[in-house]
Amino acid sequence: MTAVDKIVLGHGSGGRLSRELVEDVFLKSFFNASLSPLEDSAEVRFPGGTLAFTTDSYVVTPVEFPGADIGRVAVCGTVNDLAVKGARPLALSAGFILEEGFPGALLKKITASMRRAADEAGVSIVTGDTKVVEKGKADGIFINTSGIGLIPGGRKLSSYSVKPGDVIIVSGNLADHGVAVMNARDRLGLEGNIKSDAAPLNGLVEAALKVPGVRAMRDITRGGLATVLNEVSGACGLTAEVDEEAVPVSSAARNACALLGLDPLYVANEGKLVLFAAPGAAAGILKALRSHRYGKNARAAGRMLKEKKPQVRLKTSIGGSRIMLMLEGEQLPRIC
Ligand code: MG
Repeated sequence: MTAVDKIVLGHGSGGRLSRELVEDVFLKSFFNASLSPLEDSAEVRFPGGTLAFTTDSYVVTPVEFPGADIGRVAVCGTVNDLAVKGARPLALSAGFILEEGFPGALLKKITASMRRAADEAGVSIVTGDTKVVEKGKADGIFINTSGIGLIPGGRKLSSYSVKPGDVIIVSGNLADHGVAVMNARDRLGLEGNIKSDAAPLNGLVEAALKVPGVRAMRDITRGGLATVLNEVSGACGLTAEVDEEAVPVSSAARNACALLGLDPLYVANEGKLVLFAAPGAAAGILKALRSHRYGKNARAAGRMLKEKKPQVRLKTSIGGSRIMLMLEGEQLPRIC
C-alpha cells in the first residue's frame, strides 16, 4: 500500500484507493475498536445495549434522475448502512452545503423526497445544519446524513462472522442506480427505462432476520458487488466464489453496461444488499427476501470457501473463472 500523496478522484470511488485513503489517513488518526472493523455502521456500546452509528455524504450529479434524487439517496444510503448491521433506525441528521443561487423550489423538492424516504423507513430527520458557499465554490447541493439505530440484543452481524460453506445471496438486480445516473448525466438516451433502485432496506432486512442463519449483510453501493465481496473476503479470510449466471442483472442494465464499457459487478446500487447465509438456512432466507417488494429478484449467487489464498472469483457462464479485485481507479465519479 502506498501513502496518500495527493487526493485524486479515485479516492472517492469506494474501491481500492478509497480503502487506502481510509487506512493510511483516517484509520491511523482515529483508530479505535468501533471504527477499525470498517463496516457499514460502527457498533457503539452503551449501558443499555448497542447502537449502530453511520454517516455518509452525497454529491451525486445530476441531483435528479429517473427513480430518485440526491435526497432519496441520502436518506436510503444511511438507513441501509444501519439496517445491514441489523440495527433498527432511530433517527437521522441532515447537513446541507448549498451553493449561492441554488433554486429554492428544487431544494423543497429534494427535502420533500427525503421526508418520503424517511417516512417509508419509519425514521425521522431530527437535526440538521445548513452552510452556504459563494457561487462557484460548490456544485449546487451536497448533503450529509448521519444515522443512529438500535441493534436488538442477540443480533451480531459482521463480515468477520462469515463461515466456509455460507451461501452468498444478492437481494436483487444490480447496476440500475449507476446506469440511471450516467444516462441522466450524459443524456445518453439509453433504452430500457432504467431507474435508480434507491430504497430503504430496513423492512427487507427485518424480513430476512426472521429466519435464523443470517451471518452478515453488506449494502452494495460504490464499487459494486465485486468490491464489497473483497472487503468481506478480507475480513473473514475466505474465498468468495460467484456464479456469473446467477448474479441478477436486468437485460436492459446488462446491455447498457456493455455499451458503456462497465462491468455490472462494479457498478453502484442504492437499494441492494448481499447477505451471507448459513448453508441450511439459505433457502428459507431467500424465500423471506423474495416475499418483500425490494427482494423479489433475490438469488443465491455463490458461496464462501476455505482456501489457502482467499480471493474473489467469478465462475463465468462459459466455464472459465476470473479473479475480481476491488474497483480500480474511478469509473463513475459522483454516483452517490
Ligand atoms: Mg455502506
